[in-house]
Amino acid sequence: MTTTDQPRDQHAPWIDKERLRQKYLEERNKRLRPDGNDQYLQVRGQLAHYLDDPYSPVAPRAPKADHVTFAFIGGGFAGLATAARISEAGIEDIRIVEKGGDFGGTWYWNRYPGAQCDTASMVYMPLLEETGYMPSEKYAHAPEILAHCQRIGKQFGLYDNALFTPRS
Ligand SMILES: Cc1cc2nc3c(=O)[nH]c(=O)nc-3n(C[C@H](O)[C@H](O)[C@H](O)COP(=O)(O)OP(=O)(O)OC[C@H]3O[C@@H](n4cnc5c(N)ncnc54)[C@H](O)[C@@H]3O)c2cc1C
Repeated sequence: MTTTDQPRDQHAPWIDKERLRQKYLEERNKRLRPDGNDQYLQVRGQLAHYLDDPYSPVAPRAPKADHVTFAFIGGGFAGLATAARISEAGIEDIRIVEKGGDFGGTWYWNRYPGAQCDTASMVYMPLLEETGYMPSEKYAHAPEILAHCQRIGKQFGLYDNALFTPRS
């Protein structure tokens, strides 16, 4: 990557963005397969129940046909943090669509004994200052991280519009 013959970014002048984009494209193309979705197997039989959500009962509801300004698929850290920031910007009609029964993403689904983060909690857990929450351990266990996701959802009003477990 050259550092001299490309337009320079004010904040990161050493990054050749065009070359970087090209590299990402090359890596993406290496992973594309001609069989597309046919490469995947349908999970059947003994293992099929893992596709269900064991933590939340299905709560039937009518289909939604309204309009929202921002909608996200996925109620993990990414969806929560983005929605929280949008909410801070004053936009209220945000919808998170999540196939699980609650927010948490990774931390909703992974509940095996001893599960914990391996990045320091103070760095890893989002929106700590905004929620005023102090992690109890250097490497927080899964239930604490899940509870923090729920805390973010409540504080930023993200439950109001969310759609969980869409199997009605
Ligand atoms: C045990 C464990 C420990 C980890 N520790 C660390 C760590 O210490 N540091 C670190 O950086 N990372 C760690 N990770 C990685 C972790 O996945 C990420 O840090 C982060 O939580 C990912 O957030 P996300 O929102 O991008 O995705 P996810 O948390 O995976 O959330 C995506 C959500 O989207 C939902 N979804 C997907 N498709 C659909 C659909 N079609 N319709 C509706 N909903 C859908 C899923 O149900 C899921 O809830 C760990 C992962 C595990 C499993």
